[in-house]
Amino acid sequence: MIYQGEAISVTQLEGGIAKLCFANQGSVNKLDQATVAALGEAISALEQRSDITGLLLTSDKDAFIVGADITEFLSMFDLPKATLADWLSQANRIFNRLEDLPFPTVSVIRGYALGGGCECTLATDYRIGDATARIGLPETQLGIMPGFGGTVRLPRVIGADNAMEWITTGKDHKAEACLKVGVLDAIVETDHLEASAIQLLKDAALDKLDWQARRAQKTAPLTLDKLEAAMSFSTAKGMVAAKAGPHYPAPLLAVKTIEATANLARNEALKLEHQHFIELTQSSVARALVGIFLNDQFIKSKTKKATKAAPAIKKAAVLGAGIMGGGIAYQSASKGIPAVMKDINDHALMLGMNEAGKLLNKQLDRGKIDGNQLAKTLANITPTLSYDALQTVDIVIEAVVENPKIKGQVLGEVEAAVADETVIASNTSTIPISALAKNLKHPARFCGMHFFNPVHRMPLVEVIRGEQTSDDTINKVVAYAAAMGKSPIVVNDCPGFFVNRVLFPYFFAFNQLVHDGADFVVIDKVMEKKFGWPMGPAHLLDVVGIDTGHHAAEVMAQGFPERMSQTGKNAIDVMYEQERFGQKNGQGFYAYAPDRKGKLQKELDPQSATLLAAVAGEPQEFSSEDIIARMMIPMINEVVLCLDEGIIGSPAEADMALVYGVGFPPFHGGVFRYLDNMGLNEYVALADQFAYLGPLYQVSDGLRNMAANNEKFYP
Ligand code: NAD
Repeated sequence: MIYQGEAISVTQLEGGIAKLCFANQGSVNKLDQATVAALGEAISALEQRSDITGLLLTSDKDAFIVGADITEFLSMFDLPKATLADWLSQANRIFNRLEDLPFPTVSVIRGYALGGGCECTLATDYRIGDATARIGLPETQLGIMPGFGGTVRLPRVIGADNAMEWITTGKDHKAEACLKVGVLDAIVETDHLEASAIQLLKDAALDKLDWQARRAQKTAPLTLDKLEAAMSFSTAKGMVAAKAGPHYPAPLLAVKTIEATANLARNEALKLEHQHFIELTQSSVARALVGIFLNDQFIKSKTKKATKAAPAIKKAAVLGAGIMGGGIAYQSASKGIPAVMKDINDHALMLGMNEAGKLLNKQLDRGKIDGNQLAKTLANITPTLSYDALQTVDIVIEAVVENPKIKGQVLGEVEAAVADETVIASNTSTIPISALAKNLKHPARFCGMHFFNPVHRMPLVEVIRGEQTSDDTINKVVAYAAAMGKSPIVVNDCPGFFVNRVLFPYFFAFNQLVHDGADFVVIDKVMEKKFGWPMGPAHLLDVVGIDTGHHAAEVMAQGFPERMSQTGKNAIDVMYEQERFGQKNGQGFYAYAPDRKGKLQKELDPQSATLLAAVAGEPQEFSSEDIIARMMIPMINEVVLCLDEGIIGSPAEADMALVYGVGFPPFHGGVFRYLDNMGLNEYVALADQFAYLGPLYQVSDGLRNMAANNEKFYP
């Protein structure tokens, strides 16, 4: 034994070959701070030996190293810059010492070698893997960039263009692709990996392989033709800036780092990498994106717990073959859970099946499925007009028209048709679950299961607990949503549940801004380009459907009259009365026409402004800051109320519901991360400036107290 620590052991194999094995105590190997320190100790032990002729790096698990420990990131970002810089250079000295060991080195990669794991392998002279190897540098997806030499070593191993591609997309790459670019030197059968690594080290030690040349290349400046380099960096910068957009600075800074360090030798290049890495750690974007990752892990762990506690759903039924029912049946079937699709209308069933067929054909065209899978998925959907097929299903999801009377009747009929243990869920978007539950004899088996449109694309499913819903029911529905590939978040019951309850105050703010003379096109532009929503509020209303939005607005106003009741006609009413229902009938705030590929394109329609004149005040210019504040404060205040009232369980779940359900810009991280990043005091002062606009703009006492005590929502 050359070294034994908690996360790493170094043993001696045949001859003078040493084997360094990463062996964290958890289920995966991570390059957390303790492991980096252990790596330093292991290298010290190796440096003291004079009998070592080669080193192989390996892992005791199916994956090499999955990356840094992201749970350590936020507290690391909080460190004073100088402390962070010290830690980075200390850690990098360890990687440099690994690279400079006086004998050849090779990494043996099975499964993931990501982030710091990938950077660790780049510090060795050679890398071999089996077919399961997947290597990449995902840091830019978290708003940062590689900090253990990734921007320095990778371009020197695979060329600047390839490295920029790897680092700016953050994707991981399969073994074959790694071999092609030269990240891997060989792909070997799993059983032969270690023997091949040993042979390689022996050959290197005998100078049959020029390992010194490998090192020289990694530690010297990049060899680039000047003109070619200028072209390649300026093209990359243009492309990356356009793709990432102004809100995501990390990919562009990574490219700039590679460019700026191209003429530098290793140690100087690393200094610049650290400087840029630290710059990114100080940005709110990095905090937001890391926060999303951690929140997602939290939701996954809750889902896992519920799934463990529930028997699997083997067969489902959907009532209503419309936009939502059809989408739910398709999604279930495509994940291998057969679904009965029941409607009262033959034509609706045919449309539902056609829609599923279209989605499957698109997948077939893209090579994502084959003909067999297409046929199997379609055969997994059973269209029917009768309740008979419901006798054998484990869950029924009601997705008929949004009318409490019709839903009530249908739910009663369903309960009479299914077995005692069948769970019943409603996909209502606004009607309180406890109100619908009154139509059932056994309300404990009933809850809400709110999907978002289009079902196959939107990741969120709100699972709504009614007053009498049992834990068993919630667990089964959460498990089913997860089996459908969705991210379920459990919320408590109220009109609009969580997502629509907080979305409608935003639409009401839109109405009010139009009323006060703002141009809706300008509002859309600001909310999209400056705040970062995927689309502005008018466009979103057109996509949701003005009729749907109008109806839901009424429900919300009834549910929360003290904040959401509307006086007089508003912009949504105008569109509704003119039957401009949005994308579904080609006209709403905008006009829509299919392009050559059949995709609906939005166009300005001068008629909208004329129609809106009836409810709009004297045209006025608003600053972008004012538009953002006026649009966002009502949503933020409502989100905070939902947490206070226990509608949503935690800031993490609220933020993820917003990101997954309505596309809240990820670089803000969700409402609570946005508030924390802004500072609660600053937010309260801002909202108070707009308090004259009415009840939706009033900050709750709870939030005011938190601000006064300098508290935050996240630790
Ligand atoms: P839709 O009008 O497209 O489809 C409703 C379907 O229900 C129709 O095919 C109709 O024939 C069928 N139907 C009516 N009465 C029935 C009955 N007694 N038994 C069986 N089928 C019956 O509506 P949709 O947009 O799919 O909405 C369905 C539900 O989903 C509503 O509660 C809606 O609020 C909710 N929802 C809709 C969206 C959305 O964006 N469209 C999003 C989330 C939730």
